[in-house]
Amino acid sequence: MSSKLNVKPLIEWGFSFEKPVIVSGPCSAESEEQLMETALGLADKGIDVLRAGIWKPRTRPGGFEGLGKLALPWLKKAGQAIGKPIAVEVATREHVFDCLKAGVDILWIGARTTANPFSVQEIADALEGVDIPVIVKNPVNPDLQLWLGALERMNRAGITRLGALHRGFSSYEKTKYRNKPMWELPVELRRLEPGLPIFCDPSHICGGRDLLASVAQKAMDLDFDGLMLESHRDPDNAWSDAAQQVTPERLGEIIAGLIIRQSKPEITANQLDDLRHRIDRLDNYVMEILSERMDIAKQIGEFKRDNNITILQTNRWDEIVHDRIEKGLKKDLTEAFIKEMFEAIHQESIRHQTKVMNNAVNVSTK
Ligand code: PEP
Ligand code: MN
Repeated sequence: MSSKLNVKPLIEWGFSFEKPVIVSGPCSAESEEQLMETALGLADKGIDVLRAGIWKPRTRPGGFEGLGKLALPWLKKAGQAIGKPIAVEVATREHVFDCLKAGVDILWIGARTTANPFSVQEIADALEGVDIPVIVKNPVNPDLQLWLGALERMNRAGITRLGALHRGFSSYEKTKYRNKPMWELPVELRRLEPGLPIFCDPSHICGGRDLLASVAQKAMDLDFDGLMLESHRDPDNAWSDAAQQVTPERLGEIIAGLIIRQSKPEITANQLDDLRHRIDRLDNYVMEILSERMDIAKQIGEFKRDNNITILQTNRWDEIVHDRIEKGLKKDLTEAFIKEMFEAIHQESIRHQTKVMNNAVNVSTK
C-alpha cells in the first residue's frame, strides 16, 4: 500500500468539519431568491457547505447551461446568511478566476471534466500557488487511474486540502441507478490513498429520490467522509436535475436518519480481532483448497493434451455452473456471487491447463 498524495484530513480544512461533512444545495443557481430560500431552509438541517452549479455541463446543447458568474455573489450572500462556506463546480481557467474573485470557499471538478486531462491541467495551472480546497469527482467512466491522475494534478499544483467525490459511472446498460455506483472503485481508492477524504454524491448516483437514503447510508457504512446531496426549495420545478433533488425538509430527514457507525472501534476490538482471526484462517483454507483444485486442473490439462481434447468442455462447464448455483443458493450465497466466483476459478483453471498444453513435449498433430 503506497500513498502518493500529500493531503490534509478534513478536520484540518479550516471549517470546523466533523465527519460526515454534508454538502447540499441546488443543482443549479436559478435566481437570488431561489438560492437564499433554499439556503435558509437548509440552515438547521445539519449541512456544512452550501453548493450550487453556476456553469452547467449539459450532455446536449440547448438546455439550461447555468447563469454564469452573475450568480456567484448571490450564492456568497446565501452562504453568509447561514454562516456556511460555499462550493462551486469549475471546468475552465476562467471559472477558477471568477470563483476566487467572488470568494468561493471550495471548488469541485465535475465528472465530465475529470475525464479530460487537458481541462484538469488547465484548472491545476490556474490554481498554482492558491490555497483553496478542491474536490475531484470521479470521471464519468470507471477509470480509477484517470481519477487518481486528476487528484495528482491538483496535488502537484500545491492543493493539499484535496478530496475525492464518488458520483457513480455512466453506462449504456439501463440500471436502477442514473450512474452505477461500482463501489469497488472508491473502496480501491481508499486502499491506495488512505489519507484522502472521500465524499459520496447519492443524488447523481440515483438520478431519483427513492434510493437516496439507502445510497447515503451505504456510503457511511463504507466509511466515506462526507456526502453531497442536491436540494432545492421546489425540486419538481428545478431547471436541472429536477427528479433527484429534494426539499430542505427531506434533506434534513435523510441526514437525521443516517446511522453513523464507528470506523475505528475501541470497545469491541477484542471481539472483532477474534472474528478477524477466524476470517484469516478460513481465507487461508480457501486458498489451500483452490491451490489443490488447480493441481487437479493441471492433471486434467495433461490428460487433455495427451488425448488431444480441447480445454473448454462446454457441457461440463454448464453442469458445474448449474450445480454450484443450486448448492450455493441453499447456503445463502447469491447467484451473482457464485457465478462470478466460479467464472474466476474456471478462468484460472483454464490458464493452468493452457500452460500445460503449451509446454507439451510430445504434441501429437492430427
Ligand atoms: C452536479 O454536481 O450538479 C454535476 C453536474 O455533477 P456531475 O459532474 O457528477 O455530473
Ligand atoms: Mn446536478
